[in-house]
Amino acid sequence: ADLKTRPYYNQILDTLKRVFGLPTFRPKQLDAICAAMDGRDVFVLFPTGSGKSLTFQLPAVCQKGVTIVVSPLLSLMRDQVQALQKIGVHCALINGDMKESERTKVKTQLRSRDKPNLLYVTPEQLQMSGYMQSTLQWLYEHGQLMRFVIDEAHCISDWGRRFRDSYTHLTELRKSYPKVPISALTATANAEVVHDIISRLDIPNCVRLKLSFNRTNLDYEVRPKKSHKACVDEIAALIQTRFPTHTGIIYCHSRDKCEEVAKELRERYKLNAKHFHAGLADCDKRRVQREWSEGEVLIIVATVAFGMGIDKADVRYVIHHTLPATLANYYQETGRAGRDGRPAHCVLFYSYGDVTSRLEMIRKDEKPEEERRWMEEDFWSVVRYCSNDVRCRRQQVLDFFGEKFDPALCRDLCDNCRDKTPVSSEDYTEDAIRAVALFENLSTTGTPITKSHLVSALRGSKLRTMVDKGFVNVDGYGSCKHLTQQLAERLIDEMLFQGVLTTVQQKTYQDYTSSYLKASYPRVRMKR
Ligand code: ADP
Repeated sequence: ADLKTRPYYNQILDTLKRVFGLPTFRPKQLDAICAAMDGRDVFVLFPTGSGKSLTFQLPAVCQKGVTIVVSPLLSLMRDQVQALQKIGVHCALINGDMKESERTKVKTQLRSRDKPNLLYVTPEQLQMSGYMQSTLQWLYEHGQLMRFVIDEAHCISDWGRRFRDSYTHLTELRKSYPKVPISALTATANAEVVHDIISRLDIPNCVRLKLSFNRTNLDYEVRPKKSHKACVDEIAALIQTRFPTHTGIIYCHSRDKCEEVAKELRERYKLNAKHFHAGLADCDKRRVQREWSEGEVLIIVATVAFGMGIDKADVRYVIHHTLPATLANYYQETGRAGRDGRPAHCVLFYSYGDVTSRLEMIRKDEKPEEERRWMEEDFWSVVRYCSNDVRCRRQQVLDFFGEKFDPALCRDLCDNCRDKTPVSSEDYTEDAIRAVALFENLSTTGTPITKSHLVSALRGSKLRTMVDKGFVNVDGYGSCKHLTQQLAERLIDEMLFQGVLTTVQQKTYQDYTSSYLKASYPRVRMKR
């Protein structure tokens, strides 16, 4: 209500309708716009698709002078500039793909009377040329530098792991142009990253605006993947019974799998499915995407290559046939469902086999060791999400973004909240220690130990293979006879998930001593 008494309120409302053709503001947009109109530094942490761009575009149109927008993604920059030009907003672009003469033309224009309201520029271009620097200086001295907007601001933080070298020098903006307010925008930042961005840009007194990342209309579910065939059967049954005429996306990890799954859905189940991946020719990509957008094709079976720039509001389900790479990716990928605000379903198929093959793939990756470690660590967040059948799924996803979420607000829109099986929290530290000791002893036989070997050995199995491999004579064999098969499996899973045991394919090893276990092995909460 307070914001409506601002002297410029009528002007911005009028601009919203007249220039942008929008009837009302979305949540917190008005707050961000008023903060910018007041000349404050602004930090905007909104999820993708919530309308961050308007929060700097609208003030830029209303104020005199030039707003400089720094963005790392050329394609997004082009899209925004085109969209703005279409509605008659005066804006310009400078990037490395342009001819030098074109860039010079824009810079000359910046010093003329016919200035654009917004200048989109890559961080490289902002820093590289002396002419750019002198142009900015000129604007600054003439009071025409309205604001710096740092889009994808998490790139400035090395906490975020998506640090970009070209963003480093943005930390100089405040020093070079102390009177120019700065806006930072991002859709991916936990508390550490937010803190880091604010301190690097030197905007400690910025107006901070944050929207919840909770997608209240999405239902989250994890299902065990028994085999590829069982998984496709389940997907088909799910679509046939619940989404026969609806639009959806099925994500697979590899190109081959996409083609295979799409073919199976078509041939065995007569479903209207097509595949999409980066290996398709550009014209095919465009065609499939168009057919799907227009509803000719209902089901798209795709790799993560599918998604950028997709703006289909009525996607009713996103199914993951294979595990996503990180929990943040999972959030983005499932976020393509239910953009219209109506209920939509997210189903993730999970098997330990998929975990080991993904880990294997990461370890074989050509990337530097450090980066592979990050990848692995990020991937474990997905595994823990899948394997935890107790905690609210929303709570787990939002936790990853540093957002505290009260599971009562989930309203049973996830499988874990729906499942009313009583949860017991018990301490299995002693059994975990026995498992590690037994594992060490089994390893001395020189035979690779699989998860099922370890479970069988803990329970003192008389299985033929266990006898043949000489496992039965090992010290500690059968030391956890009191555990049921299910409980023993869950315990080993839990130890694997928590990194107490690690596996590479069928070869199991562990780096931790029993004393480490005793000191830090947490309680295992599970359903029985
Ligand atoms: P973000 O940058 O947060 O991912 P965008 O700024 O690209 O999101 O906006 C996403 C979509 O929402 C765009 O299509 C935009 O036109 C639309 N949008 C933004 N603000 C509003 C509004 N107040 N009312 C209706 N649509 C809006």
